[in-house]
Order: sequence, then C-alpha cells, then structure tokens
Amino acid sequence: MKRGFSIEQLRNIGIAAHIDAGKTTTTERILFYSGRIHKVGEVHEGTATMDWMPQERERGITITSAVTTVEWKGCRINIIDTPGHVDFTIEVERSLRVLDGVVVVLSAVEGVQPQSETVWRQATRYEVPRIVFVNKMDRVGADFFRVVADMREKLRAPVVPIQVPMGAEDNFLGVIDIIERKAYMWIGDKSGRDYEVSDVPDEYKKIVEDCREKLVEHVVENDEALLDKYMNGEEISLEEIKTGIRKSTIENKLIPVLCGTAFKNKGIQQLMDAVVDYLPSPSDIPPVKGINPKTEETEIRLPSEDEPIAALAFKIVSDPYVGRLTYIRVYSGEIKAGSYIYNVNKRSKERVARLLQMHANHREEIPAVYAGDLCAVVGLRDTVTGDTLAQEDKPIILESIHVPEPVISVA
Ligand code: GDP
Repeated sequence: MKRGFSIEQLRNIGIAAHIDAGKTTTTERILFYSGRIHKVGEVHEGTATMDWMPQERERGITITSAVTTVEWKGCRINIIDTPGHVDFTIEVERSLRVLDGVVVVLSAVEGVQPQSETVWRQATRYEVPRIVFVNKMDRVGADFFRVVADMREKLRAPVVPIQVPMGAEDNFLGVIDIIERKAYMWIGDKSGRDYEVSDVPDEYKKIVEDCREKLVEHVVENDEALLDKYMNGEEISLEEIKTGIRKSTIENKLIPVLCGTAFKNKGIQQLMDAVVDYLPSPSDIPPVKGINPKTEETEIRLPSEDEPIAALAFKIVSDPYVGRLTYIRVYSGEIKAGSYIYNVNKRSKERVARLLQMHANHREEIPAVYAGDLCAVVGLRDTVTGDTLAQEDKPIILESIHVPEPVISVA
C-alpha cells in the first residue's frame, strides 16, 4: 500500500445538477466541512472556490472539470467538477468517464428539470452509481416526497429515501436517518454545534418505519441470503442494511435519496457520510478495458498499483502559474513525478515533470499517483483530452469518450 491508505478509502465523485439547483453551494459546503475552507464566510456569492474562470463567474455556471480533493471520515474524496449547463453535455460526458459515482443535486421545489434528465440519462448509460440530494428544503413549495415520486416517474429510477425531512420551508428543522432511526435536528451555529442527535420524534415514527420497511425490502430483494433471513422473519441488522444499500447502489439497483439545504448547511455532513458509505471506491467498479494497439486484442487493467500503467487524460487547463495542466485519471499502476510515460495515441514519450493534487485553497505537489487516483500533471506537451498514457512495453488504448446523442431538451 504505497499511497498510505487503501484504494477502498478513495471516492471519485462528481456533483451534477440542473443549473440553479445548488451544485455550487453544495460543493462549497462540502469543501467547508471537510476543513479545507475555514469559514463559510470566506465563500461569497459568485466567488465559489471551484469557479476558477472569470467567464464562469460572470455567467454563474461552472464549465471546467477540474478536480478538488477533500478528506472525510478517513476517506479521500476527489470531486470532479461536472458542468451543469445544457451547452456542455460533452464535458459532462467526459467527466462521467473518469468518475465512479455521482451526487445528483435537485431542487426540492423544481424537482426533475430538463438538464437533470440529460445528465441522468448519461449517467445511466455509463452505469454510474448515484445518490440524490434534494436541496432547497427551506424554500416555499419544497416537497421531498413529491420530488422522489417525480424521479420515479420521469427518470424511472430506483430511488429510495434513506432520510425523512422534519418539516419543510421555513419550518425545515432537520432530517431523520431512517436506517439508524436517528433525528438530526439543527440548532444553529451559535452554540458551536450544528445539530443535535435524538430519537425519532413521535409524530415521525410512522413515516420513518414505513420508509424503512420499503428500504429494507429493496435491499433484501438484491441479496439472496438477506432475502432468506427476511422471509424467515429474522431481523436484518443495521450493518446488513448498510452493506446492502452499498451493494445495491454500486450495482445501480438502488439510488439513495437524502435532503437538506446547502444554503443553510443543513444535511451536508450526512450527505458526505453517504458518499463514503454508499458510493463506490475505484476497486468496486469493473476494471477498465482497452485495445492493445500491437495485438489489437481487448485487454483489461485491474485497479491495482501492481498492474501496468493505464491512465486517461480528460481535461487540459492552461494555468497562469504552471502552464499546461493535464488532468488524468489513473486506472492502474503507479506514475512517479520525474518519470517518462508513453502516450499510446501519439506514440510518443512524455515527461511527467510534476504531479499536483488540488485542494480547495492550495495545491500540493505529490511524488506519485496510483491506481484510482486523479491528479494534474505538469510537463505533458503532446497529450490531448482522451489520450491514454501507459508503459511503452504494455501499451493500451482505453475506450474513448462517447460523443453524446444530440441534446433535444433545452433548459
Ligand atoms: P448551481 O447553478 O446549481 O451551481 O446553483 P448555486 O449553488 O449557484 O445556487 C443557485 C442559487 O440558489 C444561489 O442563489 C444560491 O444561493 C441558492 N441556493 C443554493 N442552495 C440553496 C438552498 O438550500 N436554499 C435556498 N433557499 N437557496 C439555495
């Protein structure tokens, strides 16, 4: 384990949303809670940490696919900035190619909007596991269960709530974790704590038990051993439910739904817990495939640092300080700073001068990256988006990025 932690502790996620649903705010709050930004007040409207380009700031949309690394509960989470505007579906597609799971942010008022449908279809095509965050629970007209029904109807998605909101609009008080039967009641920042954990209030007991029953049914359907237990009337343990949700989510048979209001920091920490608990690590997804250009045979690369190198360049950014930055996803092997790498598409050797990991407010130079990692490389000259980097003696061209179907719906 050269990286210092295991591949199981990695999450590569995107945050996707219809414009205005709250993707930027949710991302900022995740950065805040993971300790990389010190005060919420440091992030002002229009100057979100991930909005790097002035053009984005002007338009209020996010068009880069840069990666930001945060830590939460012993996991390293790479957040791939997925564009949220209808014009940039190709970029969305590119980022979907390199991430392992997506947090879909929907507005509790607007529900499923045209762009959420587009992103959803793309994620479905790539079989990307998802969790849904129903945001803006504080707004007038917010209705969690209507949004869940909307997703089932419009997206035909196997969405299952794992939380129940306590109240809505001005009276949105917190969320209940239906798995653990715990209520997270927000108490505001003044006390230094965000929420108080308590038992499920009486008036929510029935809905929590109803929802829990549906969730458990969904989980056992996807696991024979659990189904036997369930049919015999045995209790399914908390751990079994959680493991079952994770398995079903990774297999795209279940999409857990949570809620909150990013704006007021409610529900964000529970959302991050869910990212760690339910979205896959790079070792949970099928190994990548590609063509060996010498033999023209299909080969796979396992997500292991001991395999031959296979990495995909997915974004090139011109950086004012270091020049050309090539964002890569490493699928297998180990890439060291200062080494040479083979661009299989261009049939040329490239020097990996430096490897950078981007955090919310600083960049860190790292000596090496391993299977599962995402990073920015300084020094690659010829590499363009979509090129595969490998070892010269073990070449592979990874499956290329899809060109999406024409987008008909307009936001
Ligand atoms: P994006 O376009 O999806 O990135 O959305 P933003 O994060 O920029 O949010 C769009 C607008 O909604 C901004 O004015 C936010 O301040 C606001 N907003 C975000 N989250 C919430 C929320 O939970 N409640 C309310 N009332 N407003 C929110």
